[in-house]
Amino acid sequence: MRIDIISAIPDLVRSPLEHSIVKRAVDRGIVEINLVNLRDFATDRHRSVDDYAFGGGAGMVMMIEPVYRAIEMLKKERDYDEVIYTSPDGDRFTQKMANQLSLKKNLIILAGHYKGIDQRIRDNLVTREISIGDYVLSGGEIPAAVITDALVRLIPGVINDEQSALTDSYQDDLLAPPVYTRPSSFRGWDVPDVLLSGNTAEIEKWKHQQSVERTRKLRPDLYTDE
Ligand code: SAH
Repeated sequence: MRIDIISAIPDLVRSPLEHSIVKRAVDRGIVEINLVNLRDFATDRHRSVDDYAFGGGAGMVMMIEPVYRAIEMLKKERDYDEVIYTSPDGDRFTQKMANQLSLKKNLIILAGHYKGIDQRIRDNLVTREISIGDYVLSGGEIPAAVITDALVRLIPGVINDEQSALTDSYQDDLLAPPVYTRPSSFRGWDVPDVLLSGNTAEIEKWKHQQSVERTRKLRPDLYTDE
């Protein structure tokens, strides 16, 4: 899989993708993540990527030309499954979406800045718009890193223990059960006996019960009684 992230401030995206599971996936060649600096596609000597909004109003707008040129340059190299624009008015990002996107081969993620990008890019080049939640951030870099992280960890082979991603919250409309590690007793706070019992069947049953209880209590909207 290859993910190209287009941004005016690529440094803002870099660090979260250079550690932990995502880094391991990159090091092992399972995913290639390429940061594209929008300023390299500017057309003036100041390397401008923003301009005043037509019709006035506060805030600058990301210019059409650098974005267009960056996307076209990438598209010449390969076919892309999606050109994603991160936007607070896009479809809300979910685990289901992450699962779908993790099966794709080549993705572009376009991070906006300022007041956003020229609408004509959205109308003509963007195939999918994703919001990471109902709040407004300064730029699409953190959303791009969020989306990339969520889907890279789902690519088969990225997480060593194949089961691990499957037992996370939202994979099956259930929240994950609580987890514990050593010591088994700390200041009188004890780990549930069943986890120390060695009885795999009982442990699995307990975990499932905990997941169900948690989901009903914390996220009744997710819970379906099957
Ligand atoms: N004026 C826009 C917000 C611009 S915020 C509006 O009101 O909708 C600047 C950039 O940050 C956006 O272009 C987008 O790429 C990114 N961004 C901000 N909040 C986001 C969110 N919740 N999800 C995804 N991207 C977001």
